[in-house]
Amino acid sequence: MVMERNEADSCPGVLRLHQAADGPLARIRIPGGRLEPAQLQALAEAAVELADGSIELTSRGNVQLRQVRDAAALEERLTTAGLLPSTTHERVRNIIASPLSGRVGGWADVHALVPALDTGLRDHPGLAELPGRVLFTLDDGRGDVSGLGGDIGIHAVDDGNFALLLAGKDTGLRVPAAEAVDLMLAAAHAFLALRDGQWRLHEIPDGHDKLTEQLATHPGLTTSPDTVEVTARQDIPVGWLTQADGKVALGAGVRLGSLPARTAEFIAAIEHPVYLTPWRSIVITDLDEWTAEQVVRVLAPMGLIFDAASPWLQVSACAGLPGCAKSHTDIRADAAEAVESGRVIPSGTAQSAHEGLDADEVVAAGRQHWSGCERRCGRPRGHVTDVIATTDGYRIVPSE
Ligand code: SF4
Repeated sequence: MVMERNEADSCPGVLRLHQAADGPLARIRIPGGRLEPAQLQALAEAAVELADGSIELTSRGNVQLRQVRDAAALEERLTTAGLLPSTTHERVRNIIASPLSGRVGGWADVHALVPALDTGLRDHPGLAELPGRVLFTLDDGRGDVSGLGGDIGIHAVDDGNFALLLAGKDTGLRVPAAEAVDLMLAAAHAFLALRDGQWRLHEIPDGHDKLTEQLATHPGLTTSPDTVEVTARQDIPVGWLTQADGKVALGAGVRLGSLPARTAEFIAAIEHPVYLTPWRSIVITDLDEWTAEQVVRVLAPMGLIFDAASPWLQVSACAGLPGCAKSHTDIRADAAEAVESGRVIPSGTAQSAHEGLDADEVVAAGRQHWSGCERRCGRPRGHVTDVIATTDGYRIVPSE
């Protein structure tokens, strides 16, 4: 199917707020999901003083603030915190990297490449024209982020080389680490030259093949007949993770991806780097064992999830009412009630389809996404059961 777009993408940013039903919404790009403690503290203060008091985590490892009351003050604070380093390129900095990379598993430390990619994007004036939907992925070989539907990605195939992925598929091209960022930037330029209004590479007819052919002449590339298989996964890192250097990383789920500012302040006070994951969770890194134990003791009662068996880890939800006027209900309240009353079964056989259900009749097993209408915004990729609010009650569509 040929996809044509006649309008600019409408992705929100800090400088262009989205007018949601509950008020202006700001999306703040966090390349690689990495936040310094002071940046998390700045976000928490902004959430309390300028927005609705929570930090929303997104499926691209970015964050959103809702009901923004003073856009100019927010811009100033985020700029001071280093969270808005460009006014021209803010919406193109969509970069996801394997959250545990360099600390637990994986072939390579892809976080080391994120600043160079971010700077490279910002240094090219022309790349400000990239649609805000374009997504860059850096996978350290474990396969956790390559399946998230990126446009331009690298995937480690050994400790010094990466496969180039375009539109989520292996190109067969292999690039040494030292050339990987330049190749991704070249791919971004080539995408811009090729697009005719499309927002995503997969929307361009034969876009994958055309771009692969153009990039094949890039210096230092080799080819491989071995194809990297890309699958959508829900690799939420949860609980105690021992790093290669003997320190501890703590993976924590966040209920429905909404982090209360007060909890965020406690996390910032630990004074260690935090990574936001594309599964709307966080990883607190580089802790010694004693500190890690104290963190769990303090933050678990505040609602962070350190238990991999928690039903909260199975559930995501769109904005719903009051944030989205299209919603038939307050979907997040219904999803939370389902978890708290034991109607979200962490695992089990897929249930058959149902419809016309009241909220308190919904029982669903395994990974599930609750949507306030048929658009299913924010639905994760892969095997996910849909719980959809309709004019006639809830409908359950089991994962395939
Ligand atoms: S799925 Fe529907 S109700 Fe939910 S955020 Fe999207 S448009 Fe709004």
